[in-house]
Amino acid sequence: MRNTARQTRDNRTITVDFRSEATYCQLLGDGKAFLECVLAFIMALGFQLKHKATCRGGGCLTRHSHSVRVRLGGVTIWRIQCTTCRAVFTVLPHFILRYRPMRPEVARDALLAAHGGLSLELCAVIQHISPMALYRLVCAFGHHSLVTVLTRCGLPLPTYFLADEKHSRCLTEKVYLPTIVCGRVLWHLGYTTEASAAALTQSYQVFQRAALDHKATYRVRGVLTDGFDSTTKSLRTLFPGARLGFCLRHALLKLPKKLAAIASPVRQSLRTKFHTLLYRVRQRKSLRVVALGQRLRYFVDHVTATAGPGNGERVRRWFHEKKAGWYTVLADPQMPVTSTLLDQAHNAIERKLFAMKGFHHPGGSQQAFLIGLAHLYNLVPYQRRAQHAGQCGVEVEGGTVPTHDWFLNLQILTSGGFR
Ligand SMILES: [Zn+2]
Repeated sequence: MRNTARQTRDNRTITVDFRSEATYCQLLGDGKAFLECVLAFIMALGFQLKHKATCRGGGCLTRHSHSVRVRLGGVTIWRIQCTTCRAVFTVLPHFILRYRPMRPEVARDALLAAHGGLSLELCAVIQHISPMALYRLVCAFGHHSLVTVLTRCGLPLPTYFLADEKHSRCLTEKVYLPTIVCGRVLWHLGYTTEASAAALTQSYQVFQRAALDHKATYRVRGVLTDGFDSTTKSLRTLFPGARLGFCLRHALLKLPKKLAAIASPVRQSLRTKFHTLLYRVRQRKSLRVVALGQRLRYFVDHVTATAGPGNGERVRRWFHEKKAGWYTVLADPQMPVTSTLLDQAHNAIERKLFAMKGFHHPGGSQQAFLIGLAHLYNLVPYQRRAQHAGQCGVEVEGGTVPTHDWFLNLQILTSGGFR
């Protein structure tokens, strides 16, 4: 089974917004005006072209050659070349998708429906395309790294983030989706068939490599997890200097499972007490860590008195295992406290994974498909709260997107010819 995304070919395609098809056709007849328009567009984005390694990119660009896309009704596509390093860039007008006969407006609507949770089959029905074509389109965007796209939007690499695996299924097999979230943005969405520390390390390492490629001095300060052993181990291996905290809300949800054979009201009252304990400790600005240790000991005594020594002992052992992760959350005010935002991302992806039914097969591009879905999660505007109405996740986190059109943004940001 292919667990990793296929390597992106070193493509130098750039998507350029020519406003309208008519403008584009006019410019085709005027080489100088065409080049000026392309350069002005790149300048406006604040991007640079990906020249060859030896080139500083200060040289001239010329129109190089053209090809005609027969499948797209004979649209002429120009290439431009750097006179210094001879790198050739294919200039795709905004109304054409790379290697695809599908019109962008068809793709836009089908992808939005898929993002909203409609099955690929039904998305295909509303746009008169084949489900496989839509699947391949998502995969095509998924061949571009999340780190590349997010840093192009000006987002800094996350120094604090949430990490956890979503458990899912590929046909009858159990699979896991290692995920990294910072605020409203997905930085990593992997795919493994095992939940071992080694498998998770391999997946999270894809993010780490991409981040270090972008910035060699990148360091993670803190990571919040749910406290699952393999996750903790893999993150400790990859980011030895980072603080590893455990989600406090998750702790609260776990407590009732540690209390066996007691009446439901007793369990409920212990849960409420534990909630108050965590809440109070978080309220204290200083000595929070000392306060937590003391209160956890009192709490164990209370459990022993009300729910018996068996439960008391189980809770004591659980506290012993997890308290270091809770201390970490309380000791660093910049640490995220709960993994709610990660759960939200997982829930959103879960609805779409339904769309993978029928596309799951041993040779499928699961990894690329998931990254494609993650791009949609980051770039499609959403309107849950009035405060961020109409903004996409990237904008909510302080990034900037090239245009007001999320689909055009996706086309531009995944262009291989930009740096
Ligand atoms: Zn060059």
